[in-house]
Amino acid sequence: MSSVTFENVVKRYGNNTVVNNLNLQIPDKEFLVFVGPSGCGKSTSLRMLAGLEDISEGTIYIGDRPVNDVPPKDRDIAMVFQSYALYPHMSVYDNMAFALKLRKMPKAEIDQRVKKAAQTLGIEQLLPRKPRQLSGGQRQRVAVGRAIVREPKVFLFDEPLSNLDAKLRVQTRAEISKLHQQLATTFIYVTHDQTEAMTMGSRIAVMKDGLLHQVDTPQTLYDKPNNIFVAGFIGSPSMNFFDVSIKGNADNIQVEGDGFQLAIPGERAQGLKSYLGQKVTMGVRPEDLFDADYVAQSIHPGNLDAQVEVTELMGNEVFLYLLTGGHSYVARVDPRTKAKVGNKVRIVANLDKVHFFDKKSEQAIR
Ligand code: ADP
Repeated sequence: MSSVTFENVVKRYGNNTVVNNLNLQIPDKEFLVFVGPSGCGKSTSLRMLAGLEDISEGTIYIGDRPVNDVPPKDRDIAMVFQSYALYPHMSVYDNMAFALKLRKMPKAEIDQRVKKAAQTLGIEQLLPRKPRQLSGGQRQRVAVGRAIVREPKVFLFDEPLSNLDAKLRVQTRAEISKLHQQLATTFIYVTHDQTEAMTMGSRIAVMKDGLLHQVDTPQTLYDKPNNIFVAGFIGSPSMNFFDVSIKGNADNIQVEGDGFQLAIPGERAQGLKSYLGQKVTMGVRPEDLFDADYVAQSIHPGNLDAQVEVTELMGNEVFLYLLTGGHSYVARVDPRTKAKVGNKVRIVANLDKVHFFDKKSEQAIR
């Protein structure tokens, strides 16, 4: 069990800075997820922590101990890779026991640890098999088992679910969360998948182009994204963005977009007063847009008239792909909606939940 700290950490390959001054404190026992698009520097951050990459600048601490110069095997961490990296010629048992044998641990203790880990993961019956005799999901568990037996202070996961099919991914997600509770150890997890991040992380670190954009609980990231990138990356389907002009006066802020005008209620309007006469970006999540016939109680409504371009029935909800003015966007509405492709529909936005962003800095206006 241990905390992890990145302090002014930089990674460069030649002139290319791929991790740009990362500062992040991960408390003991946290489940921290690094998320961001491919190439944003997530794996590199994890690999520097594991000791698989040199650090160009800054310091990484495991607990209070700077580890920049500590060899990987002495860092007391274990990593599960996307590829699983199992030894094909060894049985599951030997794969799991291997690191402990290298450490010259007594046989009886190795046996006890391997069996306990196998039990935790429900893979006791697989111990005699070779990796080629396992399904993808089983291999993934063995890779996790190999990490567990080492009883590390910190577990690192690099896209461990990428090779599993969609159904197994969902199931394994829940298992890894359960494992985190059982082991009560620090987990640091890298993924490009925002759903994985949202469902598993106690906190999520959102990266783009080597920069940490925001680190927060899933709920706070969702409700209060710091900027347009985080707002658009977290949530599925993504937040809709509209170009709007700020009109009216300090006591009555109106936003005017292509084909709609909305009166913004008090608290949300606060930050917009200094933007009177200017343009900003408005963000609205698809679930904060309702079919006017089925509006949730107690919202602060604002109307948009839209043309229905596509409907997608998801069972418990319907995605409407809409057009207002010249602008396309998505609403997640009640499945009882009568909206039909080609028809007009009245859409009601929950104005208590709309977001605004500065056009130039892309930062949230609050
Ligand atoms: P992510 O895990 O977010 O997909 P990575 O951390 O793997 O991204 O990579 C970040 C950036 O660093 C990418 O642009 C990648 O091309 C670059 N990179 C990674 N490893 C090397 C390397 N060994 N040499 C040069 N560039 C690298």
